[in-house]
Amino acid sequence: MSGIVGHTLYAVLGVKAAAHRGVALAAIATRNFPSYLAGAYLGSDIQVMPEAWCVDTGREVGFGTVPLAKSPLTGGAVRPWVLKHEGREYRPMEIHERFYGRAHLVFGWAKAERGNAVPWDRLDEYFAAVLEDTLEFFGPSERAVAYVLGWMVHVVSDSLIKSQRAGLELHLVDGKYTPRNRPIQDLVGFHEIGVKEFRLNWPALLADLAATPVEPVQAHYMRVAEKRGRLAREFPEQWEPTQRGLLDAVLAENRRWCAQHARDELKAMELVRGADGRPDCNAEIRRSVGLSYDQMVAVAEKAHFRRALGYIGDVIADMMEATVRASPRLAQLGGDHGPGWETWMKRW
Ligand SMILES: [Zn+2]
Repeated sequence: MSGIVGHTLYAVLGVKAAAHRGVALAAIATRNFPSYLAGAYLGSDIQVMPEAWCVDTGREVGFGTVPLAKSPLTGGAVRPWVLKHEGREYRPMEIHERFYGRAHLVFGWAKAERGNAVPWDRLDEYFAAVLEDTLEFFGPSERAVAYVLGWMVHVVSDSLIKSQRAGLELHLVDGKYTPRNRPIQDLVGFHEIGVKEFRLNWPALLADLAATPVEPVQAHYMRVAEKRGRLAREFPEQWEPTQRGLLDAVLAENRRWCAQHARDELKAMELVRGADGRPDCNAEIRRSVGLSYDQMVAVAEKAHFRRALGYIGDVIADMMEATVRASPRLAQLGGDHGPGWETWMKRW
């Protein structure tokens, strides 16, 4: 999984694993849960914007950089969507090329910038520097800290599921993460783990995620900002403050489109009544994957999908612990772990 459903689920798994180990940062994440989840999705995926306009209705449709041949609203023609900023037009792919690697650190840089990737074994140092700078420049509220914690979840989980970092063992139907098994991961993750195991209220959770404000710390950790703080001292390269205006426009657009995108995803996750009367995925997904919902649950079980997710949660908690070790200031946090998970999750 790598969309809004997947990254939300990784964030839940990560915070639970970290809380279980008594990592103090976990309490900050649960106390500011919508911002933590927003960081876990929008903290890295800066391509959350429409891909096209539906010609018949004039409405925006799709998801940035994912090709769209016809309108999902009418089946009619589409024309390419652009972000307008200071007299220029930007297609989602151009925005992706400029900013995606900066937000994913270990991968996703445009070809000419591949050398900028941050090695995995320096990630804890990078995250510790960002968190210390967050306390220094973006406080005093904990909200920005929670957002950064969420973003760390995204970098770690995306690296694992996309095989940028070895260690995750999963072979589901035809591989670890493939066009065919993605809908299986999303649907089984959403219903079997999200709803049945964690009892998540997905519509409320995603609406609250989408309603969170942009956190200015994002421009800092993407190094599209004034060069300052521990991050500037330890990672002095690739600062590009001149792109700040465009990045601010992108982050605002991400927030705007996320609300619609969440509704689109919730719709895709809906189960319908199958021919045999049992819950099934919608006809389009069933056709593209070639399996019923029950069959998806069975193949996920056979592939030990839940165990693989548990592993991702553990690596996230490992990274939080390593980050605390890399920061004297974070190591002093602690003591108050706040209300437990159950108390906070009553709302969702
Ligand atoms: Zn991503």
